[in-house]
Amino acid sequence: MTGGIVVAIDGPAGTGKSSVSKGLASALGARYLDTGGMYRTVTLAVLRDGIDPGDADAVARVAETVQMSVDYHPDGDRYFLAGEDVSAEIRGDQVTGAVSAVSSVGAVRTRLVALQREMAKGPGNVVVEGRDIGTVVLPDAPVKIFLTASAETRARRRNDQNVAAGLPDDYDGVLADVRRRDHLDSTRTLSPLRPASDAVTVDTSDMTEAQVIDHLLEVVRQRSEAMR
Ligand code: C5P
Repeated sequence: MTGGIVVAIDGPAGTGKSSVSKGLASALGARYLDTGGMYRTVTLAVLRDGIDPGDADAVARVAETVQMSVDYHPDGDRYFLAGEDVSAEIRGDQVTGAVSAVSSVGAVRTRLVALQREMAKGPGNVVVEGRDIGTVVLPDAPVKIFLTASAETRARRRNDQNVAAGLPDDYDGVLADVRRRDHLDSTRTLSPLRPASDAVTVDTSDMTEAQVIDHLLEVVRQRSEAMR
């Protein structure tokens, strides 16, 4: 698939997955691909078209026609809708509230999985982050990590980030949203969130980001040695 190491990182929201994936990519000199950003970009297209995210047929039509692209960037990929940089807007509440419904539509997944496989190819190491990378997108990835943490820990982390970004302090609301998204992502029929049978599961509840990255570097080192 590539000449380098492919690391698949999956897990629910709030496990520190994005920061850890970026940190790991940087330590490995790897490209970093955030597949959640792609689902968010399609979701924004759906919302901008005034389509109900629960209307699977209409969402599928958007997925088939949407003009989207992702530019690799060392500080975080940039997402474009019809040429417009929407990297900031896709992180907003409206998109976050609708993304689970949109990502449960088959046509959305078919289009994005093809794009993700294409982007994961190419020279060098790559860290690919998402929900179904080890199970569906890159089932042959030599290193598969599944990050977990309790719902309460994840909600606290997300709420702290919100407060730091100037958003209201709303732990209960964030916890409810974490549970709602966990439920939707892990019970959907298509590519539900679950660890691959050969994934290394890491519970980050009582670990700092630096400890998780160190641990994952060790996992990558061991797997790379085993592959030699
Ligand atoms: O990672 P992030 O929280 O940005 O992902 C947003 C949403 O996109 C997830 O809650 C999930 O519904 C969807 N997603 C997915 N498959 C992926 C990545 C994200 O279904 N590989």
